[in-house]
Amino acid sequence: MKLPQTGGCQCGAIRYEIIEAPQLVYTCHCTDCQRLTSSAFSLGIVVPDRAFRLTGVAPRPLQRTADSGRVNTRLVCPECGSWVCGTPRDGVVRVRAGTLDDTSWLQPTRHIWTRSKQPWITLPEGDQVFEAQPPA
Ligand SMILES: [Zn+2]
Ligand SMILES: [Zn+2]
Repeated sequence: MKLPQTGGCQCGAIRYEIIEAPQLVYTCHCTDCQRLTSSAFSLGIVVPDRAFRLTGVAPRPLQRTADSGRVNTRLVCPECGSWVCGTPRDGVVRVRAGTLDDTSWLQPTRHIWTRSKQPWITLPEGDQVFEAQPPA
C-alpha cells in the first residue's frame, strides 16, 4: 500500500487523503450496513484522525442509532449520496474502504456483527470474528 492514499465519493465532489497506514481493515455485517450499502456487508478502514483530510464540498452529516445503541454519524456527499466516512471518534475515523481510489491492497482481518452475516459468506480462518460490536 502506497501513501498517501486518496479517495472520494462517486461524483468527485468530495475527495480525501490518508497520510498514515490504516490501523485496521474490517467488515461490518450489521443490518444497518446491509441496508445502507444495499449489499451483504460494509468494508471499512480505521485511520488516525490526524492522518485523514477531507477536501471538496462539505459532506452532509446523517445520524443513526447503531445496533450497539450508540449514535453514529455518517458523512455523505450532498451531490451523489455516497457514504464516505464517519465523524472522528476516539481519535480515529472509519472510512468506507470502497471509496478509495486503489482498493487492491485491502484485506480485512476483523469481521463484526457476524450474528447477522449472510449465510453464504465464509470468513477466513484466523481472522478476528465478533458476533456484535467488539469491546473497546
Ligand atoms: Zn459525490
Ligand atoms: Zn455496520
